[in-house]
Amino acid sequence: MHEVSIAMGLIKMLEDETKKHGASRVTQVNVRIGELSACVPDSLQFAFEVATEGTVAQGAELNIEVVPAKGRCGGCDIEFHVEDAIFLCPQCNQIVSEIISGRELELTNFEAE
Ligand SMILES: [Zn+2]
Repeated sequence: MHEVSIAMGLIKMLEDETKKHGASRVTQVNVRIGELSACVPDSLQFAFEVATEGTVAQGAELNIEVVPAKGRCGGCDIEFHVEDAIFLCPQCNQIVSEIISGRELELTNFEAE
């Protein structure tokens, strides 16, 4: 499960950060996940709950913001939402020339005490 390694990576970051700031407990974690990152929010939620057990982030609330996948067409220069991983411009059917967003997988911020 891909999400477990993501959760473990998050926890590693949280442990490093709390150590730096002398905090002992993480209460809230905010992350951004792109639609193209192949990470399922529900699975991450679950993986996070399991993986945080016994760590500084045990019991922390995980807030997941899903970033929509957006592409730009090089032909007609419009931006559009990439749905179901179909990377074709809805206007001219050309393959998307640039992915603008949707690959995010990042820790936005967190609260600790
Ligand atoms: Zn187009």
